[in-house]
Amino acid sequence: MLIVMRQGSSDRELEDILGKLAQMGFGGHVSKGVERTVVGVVGRTYPELKDTLELWPGVSEVVPISRPYKLSSREFQPHDTRIEVGDVAIGGDAVVVMAGPCAVESEEQVLQAARAVKAAGANILRGGAFKPSTSPYTFRGLGEEGLKILASAREETGMPIITEVMTPEDVEMVCRYADILQVGTRNMQNFILLDEVGKAKKPVMLKRGMSATIQEWLLSAEYIMAQGNREVMLCERGIRTFETYTRNTMDISAVPIIQKLSHLPVIADPSHGTGKWYLVAPLALAAVAAGADGLMVEVHPDPEAALKDGAQSLTFENFERLMSQVVGVAESVGRKMARRIPA
Ligand code: PEP
Ligand code: MN
Repeated sequence: MLIVMRQGSSDRELEDILGKLAQMGFGGHVSKGVERTVVGVVGRTYPELKDTLELWPGVSEVVPISRPYKLSSREFQPHDTRIEVGDVAIGGDAVVVMAGPCAVESEEQVLQAARAVKAAGANILRGGAFKPSTSPYTFRGLGEEGLKILASAREETGMPIITEVMTPEDVEMVCRYADILQVGTRNMQNFILLDEVGKAKKPVMLKRGMSATIQEWLLSAEYIMAQGNREVMLCERGIRTFETYTRNTMDISAVPIIQKLSHLPVIADPSHGTGKWYLVAPLALAAVAAGADGLMVEVHPDPEAALKDGAQSLTFENFERLMSQVVGVAESVGRKMARRIPA
């Protein structure tokens, strides 16, 4: 249920409303837009509650939200969410690019990749220190050592870092190093983890579960937001279909669908979305043309020698070429690229 405040209502009235909601056992989440202030009422609401709330001072109207997700819905917040990470704004009018290796393998590998993607215009460095793996025999990441390597790459290049956190127990440690927490596809419905990153004071990128519907994905974002963390972005990374030629089927339609249903930024990951390096550029360009707020791309100094996801990783040369094409597509649909990290 949404409480739409009267124009010119006072802060005092808003505080009173939040206090009364808390007394009744409801959560109250405030969204202050340019034109209106809205309070999202969460909890077990019932139809008659509308009549009660409409009597409260400062209230203009009460609108039931038809969708099961509330805080992530456009109904709750009509304007786009913008997430500032250092000097980079995600969810503004500019396209943001996150790039780097799938897994942190060594300091040398990460620094080389960081320098190259920065020079090509990427804004955020990616790299996994904790790697979820389908097989227990493949590389599972360097753990905290990997986080330290990422932090040293940030120090040298000035690029903010995004890295995956896999367990609730690790959230605090990963927060000490990362600028953005990544929740991977296999953990999209790890509700305890979602609660925990919801309490963290860092932006979260929530990847779509490989078999998740859009609604399930938004409900997972809702878990994070319900704990108080509003800085959530969504990442389409391909879904599982009957097709086996590609690793996943990149659902480009998810981009405009999310933008219609939600105010959260949406990032496209054509690397996991396709599993093949030569499909990364075409799908990246399609995602930007479809309105994605950003891209996540795997780049490796030597893809053939990569410990993980070499087949979908771009060489530095291919990444540079992709970046120049992305600029062209962004401009052709009236977008611009996020500001470069200073050299
Ligand atoms: C990754 O980004 O390296 C990753 C493991 O992604 P996903 O969770 O989408 O498979
Ligand atoms: Mn990967």
